[in-house]
Parts: sequence; structure tokens; C-alpha cells
Amino acid sequence: MTTSTDSANKKSSSGYHTLYMVAAIIAALLLAWLAPNIAVSLKLGGQMFLRLLMMVVVPLVMASVMSGILGLGDIRRLGKPGLAAVGYYLCTTVFAVTVGVVVVNVIRPGLGLDAAEMLAGSGEHEHAMPEDPQGPRSIGEIFQKMVLMLFTDNLLKSMVDAQLLPLIMFSIIFAGMLTTMGKRVQTITDLLVSVNDAMMSFVMLLMKFAPFGIFCLVAASFGSFFGQPDAGSRLAGLAWYMATVLFGLAIHAMIVLPTVLWIFTRRSPLEFFRQMFDALLTAFSTASSTATLPVTMECAEVNARVSKKSVEFVLPLGATINMDGTALYEAAAAIFMAQIHASTNPDFVFGFTEQIVIAVTATLAAIGAAGIPEAGLVTMLIVLNAVGLPVEYLPLILPVDWLLDRFRTAVNTFGDSVGCAVVDQTFDHSAST
Ligand code: ASP
Repeated sequence: MTTSTDSANKKSSSGYHTLYMVAAIIAALLLAWLAPNIAVSLKLGGQMFLRLLMMVVVPLVMASVMSGILGLGDIRRLGKPGLAAVGYYLCTTVFAVTVGVVVVNVIRPGLGLDAAEMLAGSGEHEHAMPEDPQGPRSIGEIFQKMVLMLFTDNLLKSMVDAQLLPLIMFSIIFAGMLTTMGKRVQTITDLLVSVNDAMMSFVMLLMKFAPFGIFCLVAASFGSFFGQPDAGSRLAGLAWYMATVLFGLAIHAMIVLPTVLWIFTRRSPLEFFRQMFDALLTAFSTASSTATLPVTMECAEVNARVSKKSVEFVLPLGATINMDGTALYEAAAAIFMAQIHASTNPDFVFGFTEQIVIAVTATLAAIGAAGIPEAGLVTMLIVLNAVGLPVEYLPLILPVDWLLDRFRTAVNTFGDSVGCAVVDQTFDHSAST
């Protein structure tokens, strides 16, 4: 048997790999600071890496979800882990929103800020403002829209657009059906399982480029920020807001999630954090949990030794619907804008009910957000609409959103990782194939 030596080798090389990735980020930050123009010119390398990751996402998600279901042998065995996964996604998202609401109400970063003054001359027009889609406004309508997001009338189009939810839905139903057809479909079953193995090897190959890709991505985006003449003052005006969101994210990632992990799995949170570190660095660098998914799956399976079944079932779905960092940020940012609005409009009512509406819509908005950069900023429109806050406030937070996006994406990815370790407990491992 070569598997144990194989994974030992993979494990030790992943230690070096992490070191290279950390070094790449530090070097990129230094370069961006000292020579922003050179740093920006590395954009091409970053885009290449991002595309390489995105390129594998659709086949990887479909193959891994199908192979996960096929590995169960019988779709009915998914009952308990399925419930556990959905329960986990929901509970941790609600915890995250609660942390966001509490932190922003305690620190009150928006108090006394004048929106008109902040927007004047901030040069925000150069940013693309998300358009107000005139979308659903009531919670019922938002919910209906989200249920429909699970289904597609055109599988190929969903693949082309990388809409993962309908693809996951199809994969679960299709593979579930295959498990009931016995020997007749053995060839398809074998094919799907080997496609999945091949995709995972392909991801490992791509990961060899990760330090280089991450270096370029981080250098280019921080370089373009440091290259602006008023970079420092842009951050300063929003320092309290940033501190609030980062503080909330830190509480969720360092207290809430580790506690959940320890209670359900008795794993050491620190050790688990170390095992998932490559994925967290990739999430920070790409600001996309979907692009990070291949790395998250590899770290969970190889480093953290979470079962393949759990990795294949929980992570693809989690990357799309379980976004703790985004939920926390949506709640905190919306309430921040409400605080600013209230400072200049004394008749604006913002009480307990409005806070609850924000909490509920932030949860839904996070579930609906795609795992791509700045997706949370777009779905924030749902939250603002629901409490009647003007969307014109969105540009207020734009100058720092690219940075916060990286931290919340890392928290999203960590939330998914803890989820696959927790749900792993509910799989029947004695019946493994
Ligand atoms: N960029 C985040 C992610 O991919 C989503 C967001 O904008 O909050 O997880």
C-alpha cells in the first residue's frame, strides 16, 4: 500500500508550501508598498492563476459531489449528514450575523459621520456602483427567489455561468439515481469516480503555482491601492468601520468557530487552523471562496484528514451557500450606514425591529451571494432595500471593501472547513466502501 507514505509526503511538502505562500504574501505587500507601479504590472500573473483555479471549479464540483454520493452506496444514507450540514450552515450564519449586529451596536462606528461630506470629493465615481436591480423587497420574495436559484432550465448554461447551486442539485439527484440502478450503470459510476480522482490530482498540480499566483494577486491589488495619492486618508475616514468589521470577523473565526469545532469533533482548533492555512491564504489572496474551493478540498482531505465523503458533500455546497464572514459583514455594514443616516436625518426610525429585519435579510443575502470577489457588496442592496436605506450610501464603504472582502472570504472558507469536520462525525464510516 502506498497511500500512507503518499499522504505523509504530501503532508510534509505542504509545510513548505505554506511557508512559500506566506513569503509570497509578505514579499507582495512590500513590493506594493515600495514600488506600486511595478506591483500593478503583475496583474497578468494574478489573473492567470485565478483563471486556472476557476477553470477547474465546475468539473470539480460536479465530479466531487457525484462521487461523494456514489461513495455512499445508498442515497438514503445522506439523511443525517444532509440535515447536519444544513443545520450547521444555518446556525453558524445566524451566530455570525449576531456577532456583527452586537459589535456594530457597541462600537457605533457610524455615529456623527456626515454622509454628504464623506461622499464629496471621495472620487468614488471611478468605482462601478452595483446597480439597484429593483429586486425583491420583502423577505418572502427574497426567499422565493432563492429557492428558484436551486433549479435551472438549462444545465449547460449553468455550467457556462458557473452557477454552482443548480449544478450541485443536478449532481445529487443524478448520482442518487445511479446508486439505485446497480450493475447496469457501473461504467458511468467508475468513470465519474475516476474523473474526480483526476480532478483532484489536477488541483494538486495547479497548487504548485500557488505561491507565484498569490504573489501576483496580492501585489497587484495592494499596489493599485498604495499607488493612489490619497490612500492613507481614504482608510483613515473609515478606520472605525473597518476595525468593527475586522473585530467581528476575528471573534467569529477565533472564538465561535473554534468552539463549535471543539465541541463537536474534539479536534484542536489551532491544529485545524494550521491544516487549513493554505486554503485561508488562498481565500485572502483571491477574495473568492469558489476559486479557493479546490484548495479547501485538498487541505481538508490531505492535511486535516476529513473523510472524502464529507469533503465532497459539505465543501462544494458550503462554498456557495455558507458564508459566515459575508453575513457578519452585511449586517455590520448595513447598520453602520443606518447610523450615518440617522445622524443626519433625525426622523429616520431605526429601532429593534429594523435591526431584526437587517439580521434576517443579511442571512439571506449571504446565502444568495456568489463566492466571487465583492459579491457581498452587491447583495447588500437587498439588505438596504429591506429597511429603506438609500442605496446611495453604498459608495461610502467602497474604498475599503476590496480589503474587507479578503478577510471575510477567509472567514467564509474557514466556516466551510469547520463544517466539513463537524458533519464528518455524522457519516457512517463503518459502511465505507
Ligand atoms: N468574496 C466573498 C466570497 O467569495 C463573497 C463576498 O463578497 O462577501 O466568499
